[in-house]
Amino acid sequence: MEKICPICNKIEEKNICCPKCEGIMVDKGRVQEYMGPYGAEMPIKDSEDYCLHLYCCTKCAFMKRVYINKIVI
Ligand SMILES: [Zn+2]
Ligand SMILES: [Zn+2]
Repeated sequence: MEKICPICNKIEEKNICCPKCEGIMVDKGRVQEYMGPYGAEMPIKDSEDYCLHLYCCTKCAFMKRVYINKIVI
């Protein structure tokens, strides 16, 4: 058995409601991909059960980190 992230693997799409304007927030990829050489101030622990994604509001550009539950395949 293997645990995978359904968002990274394009199995599922998760749209989240923006807490600020109630617009639609879309997946921008894994948070790790936004952590270049300058993003070291906040280390992200990769969990076996969760994948951390960055969501961005299509209306107000508010960004939010969302933990995605990995699924067992
Ligand atoms: Zn993922
Ligand atoms: Zn918004």
